Amino acid sequence: MSRTLPVTKNDYIDVVFEDLTHDGAGVAKVDGYPLFVANGLPGEKAKVKVIKTGKSYGVGRLIELYEKSPYRVEIPENEIHKYGGCQLEHISYEGQLQYKENQVRQVLTRIGKLEDVVVHPILGMDHPLHYRNKAQVPVGEKDGKLIAGFFKPRSHDIVDTDESLIQLPEVNEAVQAVKEICSELGIPAYHEESHKGVLRHIMARYGKQTGELMVVIITRTGDIPHKNKLVEEIVAKLPKVKSIVHNVNSKQTNVILGEKTTILWGSEVIYDYIGDVKFAISALSFYQVNPVQTKVLYDKALEYANLNGEESVIDAYCGIGTISLFLAQKAKKVFGVEVVPEAIEDARRNAKLNGMTNLEFAVGEAETVITKWYKEGNSADVLVVDPPRKGCDEALLQTIIEMKPEKVVYVSCNPATLARDLRILEDGGYKTLEVQPVDMFPHTTHVECVSQIVLKEAADPK
Ligand code: SAH
Repeated sequence: MSRTLPVTKNDYIDVVFEDLTHDGAGVAKVDGYPLFVANGLPGEKAKVKVIKTGKSYGVGRLIELYEKSPYRVEIPENEIHKYGGCQLEHISYEGQLQYKENQVRQVLTRIGKLEDVVVHPILGMDHPLHYRNKAQVPVGEKDGKLIAGFFKPRSHDIVDTDESLIQLPEVNEAVQAVKEICSELGIPAYHEESHKGVLRHIMARYGKQTGELMVVIITRTGDIPHKNKLVEEIVAKLPKVKSIVHNVNSKQTNVILGEKTTILWGSEVIYDYIGDVKFAISALSFYQVNPVQTKVLYDKALEYANLNGEESVIDAYCGIGTISLFLAQKAKKVFGVEVVPEAIEDARRNAKLNGMTNLEFAVGEAETVITKWYKEGNSADVLVVDPPRKGCDEALLQTIIEMKPEKVVYVSCNPATLARDLRILEDGGYKTLEVQPVDMFPHTTHVECVSQIVLKEAADPK
């Protein structure tokens, strides 16, 4: 006999929200059965209508709020688009920080069973607006003009966005200017359904420390109508532009960038600094989007690595080598490992750019490359990991446990997999001393953490 659910579709019920989902929806429990309701905030009492019931959870719609959270902020309807669909736009920044910090504490206890780890108060931004150095906005058409912005949640309708509260002003200005120029030149937008038209996305990247701007025009077609005029006008309208790039994506796909990239004007890359380290950023390179908080995060990672210049360090999941180069300033030698070959090319180029010779990079899966290194008799004093959301591969954690580097620094963009992996390391002889949450993405549900982990025998010597 199937279990009867405590709610039925179309019921109207009164609930109290206890938590938020990863999408920022409120979570209420009815006899233990979770109900997800968009726009509900923890602590709020509300009347909701049940609109869907599944085996493990249901979905409701907010009908009436009886009691509002002190963290709720009311954004006028005509301003909501300025947040570009951020999930936490209806929560004050203070409330967001509290939510993220609590989330980290909860998962470390619930999933990681880490009772005595020190979780520091989250490091938020002093000015949590206009922080992103990169925008890539889809382009559409309305009333004979180009529109560009973001997709409405769970749809492919574009909301035209003339002002963004999360992008750096230079990035926003670039997107607007390119949109207007293309519109005036009559360059047609791409239509997803028919797979016809030209202009798919406008991308802009800005080096906050150098003041250098890159514009990337992404089209379905190999040619852009009025290409020369377009370039001329972009250069005239955007004095900070250093690079104009054309990327062709002829496939019917959600992936933004396509197979062919050419430089239309200026340089192939723009530069930026994180601290004293210089980075070359091409149209396709991965580069952290919040430069202010990246510095905060990397400084913490460096502090936790506590280097004296004699150590050999492994940076697993190193991307374009951002953390590797940061560590190399203080270490004897850094080995970076990353699965994407182009990222490793960038990493090597960046090491050269900074005149750093104490780095080596390898392409491959961290679990494979590092395990092989270890089996060949190599070791490291400090190991840094910064894996994608799914966390570290278990084989890598096993190698760490056998290799026994004195310190492990874990940079994580997903507290749940961080907690799971810290538990594995604890069971293998490590101790997590501290976890520092950092808010890299204000107004979204994302939270980044850095953790300091040491060998147990070093933490409590007998
Ligand atoms: N540390 C970098 C990038 C971290 S993002 C920075 O701060 O900029 C995570 C990186 O892990 C991505 O570049 C991704 O390509 C890479 N990656 C994913 N799976 C991997 C694996 N199994 N082995 C090595 N790298 C991997």
